[in-house]
Amino acid sequence: MNQKPSMDPARYFDHAATTPLRPEVFAEMLPYLKEGFGNPHSLHAWGRQAADAVRLARERVAQAIGAEDPMQVFFTSGATEANNWVLSLGRPVAVSPFEHASAWETAQAKGLPFLGNQGYRLDSPPARLGAAVMLVNNETGAVLEAPQADWLFRDITQAVGKIPVSLEGVDYATFSGHKLGGPKGVGVLFAREPESLCPLLHGGGQELGLRAGTLNVPGIVGMGLATLLAVEHPLGPHTSACRTSFFEAIPEAREWCLEPGPNGPTSILALSLPNVQGEAAVLDLDARGFAISSGAACSSRSTEPSHVLTALGMNEEQIRGAIRISFGHCNTPQSAKELGIALREVVHTLNRIRNV
Ligand code: PMP
Repeated sequence: MNQKPSMDPARYFDHAATTPLRPEVFAEMLPYLKEGFGNPHSLHAWGRQAADAVRLARERVAQAIGAEDPMQVFFTSGATEANNWVLSLGRPVAVSPFEHASAWETAQAKGLPFLGNQGYRLDSPPARLGAAVMLVNNETGAVLEAPQADWLFRDITQAVGKIPVSLEGVDYATFSGHKLGGPKGVGVLFAREPESLCPLLHGGGQELGLRAGTLNVPGIVGMGLATLLAVEHPLGPHTSACRTSFFEAIPEAREWCLEPGPNGPTSILALSLPNVQGEAAVLDLDARGFAISSGAACSSRSTEPSHVLTALGMNEEQIRGAIRISFGHCNTPQSAKELGIALREVVHTLNRIRNV
């Protein structure tokens, strides 16, 4: 009988796509989904309770990312919205070719210029232009150096809790709750000078009148605690142990790595499999109960080759073989070893099929 593989969390290696909610975060959110349901803009006790919870979450986020003032922190529906917001301000900016689709597509739609690159090295934008350059790339795990620019926007979604993040010299930064053990549908825009923002959504005056819409209180509460926990308990040592164990099981995979450059987080491992389609490997591993991704999860259903891997100069064959393994809380060195063993078999089997 064709049994559905059990969904063992230890075999979930797609933390760059999303992470499970931390139990402590869930516990903290729960009252705001139940009796603490007030609207933080109401004047009565229910409203004040919700407003207090939002205030604490804003302070926690500010503390965790090193913002001087909690009023520099704006809650959004995710990094996608926050990225759209920054790139919709009308401030002249050039965008790196490695950005997540939420910035890259926005740049395309608005006709913004892209920064030139040599590998991961980005050219400086022309005078008086800002630069939008993510800190850690979601497909390859590379850390991107920011070029000299008039002002700087960093998407730090894949960096928070994975590597130390400094906001020095950063004018705007964005990230999402569900990549760091928080809930989906909530994100943050850090703006060093909130007065430089103009509203993306008009309406009821929430978020200093700059982001209208009733606040997602349970989500914001979760975002606050998840961000703090992610920064207080960085994942690096754990993901590093998982990565080592994976390579012990499949040493040849070291040859297949897309070189992420120095200082990258150990959470993301991008490989280009030789003579094997990434998607075929993903499906074969899925049948064995392992979850990984072929390139960025947000675009893995697209037939277009990844714009990131294309910008790195990879050819179509190499891009077709690309997979992304992303380690996190759920994994153990043992499950990472099992993934290595399974990937080894998958690559051999798919190569055999190709050669008959
Ligand atoms: N930026 C980066 C670097 C990401 O990895 C993602 C999620 N894949 C996003 C932005 C968008 O986040 P969300 O879908 O939560 O809005």
